[in-house]
Amino acid sequence: MSQLQQISVLGATGSIGLSTLDVIARHPERYQVFALSGFSRLLELETLCLRFRPRFAVVPTAAVAVKLQGALQSGGLSTRVLVGEAGLCEVAAHPEVDTVMAAIVGAAGLKPTLAAVETGKKVLLANKEALVMSGALFMQAVRKSGAVLLPIDSEHNAIFQCLPGDYGRGLSQVGVRRILLTASGGPFRQTPLEQLQAVTPEQACAHPNWSMGRKISVDSASMMNKGLELIEACWLFDAKPAQIEVLIHPQSVIHSLVDYVDGSVLAQLGNPDMRTPISHALAWPERIDSGVAPLDLFAIARLDFQAPDEVRFPCLRLARDAADAGGSAPALLNAANEVAVQAFLQRRIRFPEIANVIAEVLNLAPTVAVESLEGVLQADAQARQLAEQWLQRHER
Ligand code: NDP
Ligand code: MG
Repeated sequence: MSQLQQISVLGATGSIGLSTLDVIARHPERYQVFALSGFSRLLELETLCLRFRPRFAVVPTAAVAVKLQGALQSGGLSTRVLVGEAGLCEVAAHPEVDTVMAAIVGAAGLKPTLAAVETGKKVLLANKEALVMSGALFMQAVRKSGAVLLPIDSEHNAIFQCLPGDYGRGLSQVGVRRILLTASGGPFRQTPLEQLQAVTPEQACAHPNWSMGRKISVDSASMMNKGLELIEACWLFDAKPAQIEVLIHPQSVIHSLVDYVDGSVLAQLGNPDMRTPISHALAWPERIDSGVAPLDLFAIARLDFQAPDEVRFPCLRLARDAADAGGSAPALLNAANEVAVQAFLQRRIRFPEIANVIAEVLNLAPTVAVESLEGVLQADAQARQLAEQWLQRHER
């Protein structure tokens, strides 16, 4: 490869953003950082800018932009600081950008990720919420622009690696019977059910295998993460919800499997370190060093599997129902979940109430067909409003 690939990292200050920059830093002969974005961790963003010297940085407000611009200038950088969603969309769609890492958490990442898709970039998708919300429109935009969409979510990256290159012809065409989506079961897999009422945000965020941002950590504890991933997999691989089976695999060594009609089951294994899927997607179709230690199967010694318990994890059922309902249901589910998780992190509600908020929003808001981005945003806003109303009625 003669030219350096120019990369915009959206959500650079987060867990995925930092892992991405760790991989990029290992391969200066391949990759150059074009833009970095942050939201609340602005000192960290400044440090990252001084280290990676991007053309652009993006921050949430004009006041913060002025401050960062001054600091970077004093540091001898010519980095231009842009503001807000418009700034994020600009660095996602910039003609000089080859690759966009979409690693903003939640619905806030939707428009910038779509901007990258619509301009035909290589899009590394960590921001699963964007795809869950807008699935049909998102995939339509991918087909229209010719964007190369590569999954960063470890499970979807594993499935992608276990599928043949021409899986776009249709899963049944390439002999796939089912997709087996693995889940760790999170920190509360074995917690007595009556104790879930009292669990704290700190306990929910203490994931046994992965170190991640707070929102996805709570989603893992409720297994809504697996629910969102089920919907994500349906869109990425053109699968029906019924073709995807969730299985709990507490060691997080097998990252997912593909079951073929001849009885072959292909799996991708690796240490639970996001630098593996990030490196895979960055270099695809080549392979590069990620800094991840080789897998030591002797140390792991055993791999366990069990079926998920929907009494313990009602969010999984809610997500499967939303996947079956289609239309606006996944956008409603996602937005209600974002509000509920935030409320739990702020200690406004108890952990099991996350599922109650989402169930009520899905009961109250009718599922409608979604034909435009406005439709998606309307569903998102309606769910947020209904979820807030629930919180006001039930707050402790
Ligand atoms: P983090 O919370 O660690 O990082 C989120 C990033 O988004 C940060 O850079 C944050 O900025 C930025 N951000 C937050 N809110 C906004 C907003 N309103 N507007 C613009 N930027 C915002 O999350 P993760 O890195 O863990 O997760 C990122 C995405 O990747 C999520 O969608 C998650 O589901 C997905 N993912 C993560 C995995 C992981 O291992 N962490 C695994 C698989 C998927 P700041 O920090 O400066 O506030
Ligand atoms: Mg995952």
